[in-house]
Amino acid sequence: MSEFRVGIGYDLHRTAEGRRLVLGGVEIPFERGLAGHSDADVLLHAVTDALLGASSLPDIGELFPDTDPAYRDADSAKLLTAALERVRSAGFAPHNVDCVVHAEQPKLSAHKRAIAARIAQLLGLPPERVNVKAKTGEGVGAIGTGAAIAATVVALVTPHR
Ligand code: MG
Repeated sequence: MSEFRVGIGYDLHRTAEGRRLVLGGVEIPFERGLAGHSDADVLLHAVTDALLGASSLPDIGELFPDTDPAYRDADSAKLLTAALERVRSAGFAPHNVDCVVHAEQPKLSAHKRAIAARIAQLLGLPPERVNVKAKTGEGVGAIGTGAAIAATVVALVTPHR
C-alpha cells in the first residue's frame, strides 16, 4: 500500500523584548524574540501541526494546551518529539517537509541551513528532505512591521511499519 498523506501547519507569534528568538530549534541572535507560553518556536509549532494534520491527529493546541503549566517555557523540540510518537503510533512517518518562515527581520539566509539540519535531525530524516525558505512582509502588516513572525509548513507522511 502506498498511501501518501499531506498536511499543512501554520503559526504566528508576536515579537517581544527580552525573549529568545528560537526558530526550528535553533537560537538566532536578535534583539527581539517571540512571545508565547512555550519557547514560542513558531516554526517547530507549524512543523508539528503539519505532521499531525497529515496523520489526522488532534492539533498542537489540543495535545499541548497553553493553559497547562507543564508546557510553560517548554522546549518545542520536545513537543515535536512527543507529536512524532503519536504520528508513528497512527501508522505514519514523515517523508519530507517544506517550510516558509515569514519574518521581516532578522535576515535568515545565514541560518536556513542550520535550521533545516536541526528539523531533519528531530524528524530522523536526511537533511535534503527538509527545506527552509524565508520571506519578508514587504514592510506592511504584522510581519512587515516586525510585530510578528509566522511560519507555514507542508509535510508529507507515508505508511510506517
Ligand atoms: Mg505557537
